Amino acid sequence: MAEDGKDSGASPAPWELAQTLLKREVGDEVYRSWFASLAFSGLEGNTAVLGVPTRFNGDWLRDNFEDRIRTCLNRAGLPVSAIRFQIAEKMAAKAPPAVSAAPKPMRSTAGTGQDPIAALEPRYTFDSFVVGKSNELAHAAARRVADADEVAFNPLFLHGPVGLGKTHLMHAIAWEVKRRHPDRRVLYMSAERFMLRFIYAMRHQDTVTFKQQFQSVDLLMIDDVQFIAHKDRTQEEFFHTFNALVDNRRQVVISADRSPTDLEGIEERIVSRLGWGLVADIHPTDYELRLGILQSRTESLGHLSLPDEVLDFLARRITSNVRELEGAFNRVVAFAELVGRPITLEMVRDVLQDLLRANDRKVTVDEIQKKVADYYDLRLNEMLSPRRSRRIARPRQVAMYLAKQLTSRSLPDIGRKFGGRDHTTVMHAVRTIEGLRQVDSSIDEDITRLSRLLTG
Ligand code: ADP
Ligand code: MG
Repeated sequence: MAEDGKDSGASPAPWELAQTLLKREVGDEVYRSWFASLAFSGLEGNTAVLGVPTRFNGDWLRDNFEDRIRTCLNRAGLPVSAIRFQIAEKMAAKAPPAVSAAPKPMRSTAGTGQDPIAALEPRYTFDSFVVGKSNELAHAAARRVADADEVAFNPLFLHGPVGLGKTHLMHAIAWEVKRRHPDRRVLYMSAERFMLRFIYAMRHQDTVTFKQQFQSVDLLMIDDVQFIAHKDRTQEEFFHTFNALVDNRRQVVISADRSPTDLEGIEERIVSRLGWGLVADIHPTDYELRLGILQSRTESLGHLSLPDEVLDFLARRITSNVRELEGAFNRVVAFAELVGRPITLEMVRDVLQDLLRANDRKVTVDEIQKKVADYYDLRLNEMLSPRRSRRIARPRQVAMYLAKQLTSRSLPDIGRKFGGRDHTTVMHAVRTIEGLRQVDSSIDEDITRLSRLLTG
């Protein structure tokens, strides 16, 4: 196994790109402390082998960043599904002092009097959180918890699908509480980590200390609580901790990917108690929120600029969740920086091919045809028929145009879907509509509205 990327089978370029992505993802400071001496040693099948200077460094990266490292590797074009951290002897000597001076991982700090703030992402603050219709309740509730001097509602239960800002809001609460009340003890932890620590405590017959540690905090936040479904002993312990804190008027914030009542495999009495406070859900994003998030990210960039049409394109096309949207944004920016080219729509389509395709899967030509027919009050078979009257032909052209814009189907493919028409017919439709959009504002509005309806 080679010690650095240059000697291994994989070319060094993807690793370089992955490093740039990682730096964007975690921020310069964290990157310098924890990632600077990370080396790409090569691939073993689908496992990426990464060299680290110390076991401590490796464990920390694995515990806190494994998913994100893997995602960045994937985005950089390395098809890895697992990561192995390997202590690189040679590098130990070169390890920068920053590693030992860096903040300690939360594992060794919670409840010991030290500040567990190291586990919080500096970027996840209220300032950087963009509020829209889909998250305004969750945001308002989080703000309330962060600003209140008394326990506001207990617990605050945030739920919604992955990648929509639950963790972000929890970290934002923690930052804000720490800022306003530096003496308060704030503990944020994933439910998974809670379980691991509990198991560790049991194995070392030290559950008393475990309990004391958790029950002495002022604010406890447990993220992704669905994780402890079907884990009975962990649930039991979690329930005790939770009750003790609530009874002592300490604030508890919980997140999950679904509402308390939809949590399966969690005891009824726990579910019911989780719903006692305020339950706030986060919905999938709409176009405006996505655009807002992109604009806010653009502002924080400073030097690089993204044309409005690129932002609009990303907001329309990457609809799955904010994490993917940010991933797309970061990839575009990283690419532009690496190759030193300005960001254009064409480049974005190119760089994001795979992601666009994955997001496209949601809008199909069939759906487009149905929506457009509905919109113009036509029957679907009328629209697909050979008839050429303007009443039918124009909507048909609109549907073809949208099929070209919103899916990655080829022109011949689209033609086939429209009653076996030729690809030149589709091309003609696309050009006609493009032209009309410039001069006819009602067509332009129709299309904007339809794309929104279709892309959510
Ligand atoms: P979840 O915990 O719900 O899976 P995260 O909090 O990890 O989601 O959010 C995923 C990414 O999207 C994070 O980088 C986060 O900063 C970002 N994000 C989500 N919602 C927003 C928002 N409303 N404004 C700004 N960034 C957001
Ligand atoms: Mg999360």
